[in-house]
Amino acid sequence: MGQPEPSTLAVVPFHFWSVTFFVFGCIVGSFLNVCIHRMPLGQSIVTPSSYCPHCQYQIPGYLNIPLITWLWLRGRCANCAAPISPRYFAVELLTGLLFLATWLRFGAKGFAPPIIYCVLLAGLIVATFIDFEHFIIPDEITLGGMVVGVVLSGLFPEIHGGTKAAHGLRDAAIGAAVGGVLVYGILRLGKLLFGQHRVTLPAPSVVTFTENEMLLPMGPVSYEELFYRQSDVVAFRAARVELVDRCYRDVDVQLSPSRLRVGSDEFDPGTVPHLEALTDSLVLPREAMGFGDVKFMAAIGAFLGWPAVLFSLMVSALLGSVVGVTLILCKRREWSSRLPYGPYIALAAIIWLFERGTIGAWLSGR
Ligand SMILES: [Zn+2]
Repeated sequence: MGQPEPSTLAVVPFHFWSVTFFVFGCIVGSFLNVCIHRMPLGQSIVTPSSYCPHCQYQIPGYLNIPLITWLWLRGRCANCAAPISPRYFAVELLTGLLFLATWLRFGAKGFAPPIIYCVLLAGLIVATFIDFEHFIIPDEITLGGMVVGVVLSGLFPEIHGGTKAAHGLRDAAIGAAVGGVLVYGILRLGKLLFGQHRVTLPAPSVVTFTENEMLLPMGPVSYEELFYRQSDVVAFRAARVELVDRCYRDVDVQLSPSRLRVGSDEFDPGTVPHLEALTDSLVLPREAMGFGDVKFMAAIGAFLGWPAVLFSLMVSALLGSVVGVTLILCKRREWSSRLPYGPYIALAAIIWLFERGTIGAWLSGR
């Protein structure tokens, strides 16, 4: 790609490229929808071609036009009329608009910066929507993004304001290192301070574990909310434990996604459909950020450099607390709920990408 010939830009009007970036963005958005749906399920993002998740109908090319198809079919499958999530439309439109904005903002500098930032934005969009739904950010996005960010920084050092490959590589490496180390440090510190969360029940009460959730006296908590990683553990001392076919007294119980320990006995949680325990307090896993966020921030640092990492960290913490506290106050969320953190990091990085000049001037008091 490289720098456009000044003559090319003169002949082809700037806004021809604006339209191209928007349309191309919508098409990329359509592909991002596939990534958002399939990556967390471990499915291939290349084959098979798009199909209705409800009736498996293979969507033909003429019905796979970004934005238009969804509107034309009023958000329903052409074959079985099952509703198709508005997310498909939203992601296509959002990607188109962000690609357009990137061209308008950076197009004057040539083709390389806007295209590179579009690659970054595509990654941020996929990470955001997957994190919202699954509380994970796939390694393909975070580790892949880190590699792509470093390589592109070496090839096009102008995105870090330099002219030599060494300059771009250095800034990308420092950005990735600062992002990773900083967020990892916060993660460890957070674990130290809030990593475990003791819930004391008003009186010894029965806590029930079903196949999908834990029933506390104050309400149910789904395992999806409780267990973020394989190593997360719910632990408590029980006066009495009743399994389907046996009973224990005064034992320690530990439940993780892959293991249930009652006293000295071990079970596969998948084989225990029901457990009742009498206890007066439990220790639950809790954390604000996960290891996915460490890698995610490192990838952003590779593309945007270390100042972007500092900015994203501060602004995402601010955004996250405001939204979290608001939701709790509005009683839309419970104390036990976990909020995904990746979307706030992504939003902060986008603010930095478009407004770093303004932010820099503001921070230095000019
Ligand atoms: Zn269908």
